[in-house]
Amino acid sequence: STAHTFGASIVTDKGEILSDVRATYTTDKGGIIPSEAAEHHKKVKDSIIKKAIEESKISEKDISIISFSQSPGLPLSLAVGKNAAIELAKKLKIPLISVSHLVSHLEIGRLLTKAKNPVYILATGANTQIIALEGNKYRIFGEALTIGIGNALDKFGREIDLGFPSGPKIEELAKSGKYIELPYVVKGMDVEFSGIITKAIHLYKQKKASKEDLCFSLQETLFSMLTEVSERALAHTEKNELLLIGGVAANKRLIEMLEIMCKERNAKFYVVPIKYSGDNGVQIAWTGILQYKSNPEYYKNLKLDEIDIKPRQRIDEIEVTWI
Ligand code: AMP
Ligand code: MG
Repeated sequence: STAHTFGASIVTDKGEILSDVRATYTTDKGGIIPSEAAEHHKKVKDSIIKKAIEESKISEKDISIISFSQSPGLPLSLAVGKNAAIELAKKLKIPLISVSHLVSHLEIGRLLTKAKNPVYILATGANTQIIALEGNKYRIFGEALTIGIGNALDKFGREIDLGFPSGPKIEELAKSGKYIELPYVVKGMDVEFSGIITKAIHLYKQKKASKEDLCFSLQETLFSMLTEVSERALAHTEKNELLLIGGVAANKRLIEMLEIMCKERNAKFYVVPIKYSGDNGVQIAWTGILQYKSNPEYYKNLKLDEIDIKPRQRIDEIEVTWI
């Protein structure tokens, strides 16, 4: 379970997806209310886990490990999945694997695109980072300083009454908009979205720009900023693969901009299939398998009651043992 999504999935160690069941907390107006999101997760968890097992056509006793989303995100939401996973691991007497859901975005991207060792653009709701593997650690080359790209779009969407999540609706409205200038804020390798969103909200409230024009111009501006720092990361790392992952990877305009940039510098561009761009149980299951296989004895000996969520864990704190 992540901030907004509760999902369950059965995946084999060959990367075959046997089932994938999810439910996402949404609102008509306003953003995520943490206690409501957690209530949503509690309500759906049993039926989602049951359905995932049924759809997979295997029986519970054939499950050999369980993984859950340990980090980062809203604590109340993360805790629901952790508790459900611990309960099931105890019942089935099998190892429990803690997975960073950010790492899982990277790994589902690699599994489904066959990218080998790319520069990653992680564009999710709360997190926006340009990442590459260096030794056994992920290095963050640049990131959004205050709010992530998805949250930035959602924040603007909230002001114009689009509800959560706003990203897809902004993409739709942008189709009939034209360009107006907004601030462009790149600081070295980092990007800063919140001032731009404040400016866009201001223009809308003063009736100086239409929803459509603002949606279009926000996409053009925020995505250009991401494209600029991604290009610099490719140049710096001398890698020739770029992989876009996370919920905002569903956006066709962002894909198009990155595609053009990669073509111009002869780099291969990959994007996670849209079905797996947002949070899902498949990516957690698959990453858990990779982690487990890299050190089965460690995971077999873990004490279940000592495993906890890490709401603020950063991706560069994680030791990569499986690549
Ligand atoms: P994640 O946290 O990775 O599950 O991604 C969720 C975020 O992706 C939310 O902030 C959504 O608004 C955003 N999102 C989903 N689809 C789109 C889209 N087509 N364009 C832009 N943002 C999107
Ligand atoms: Mg996510």
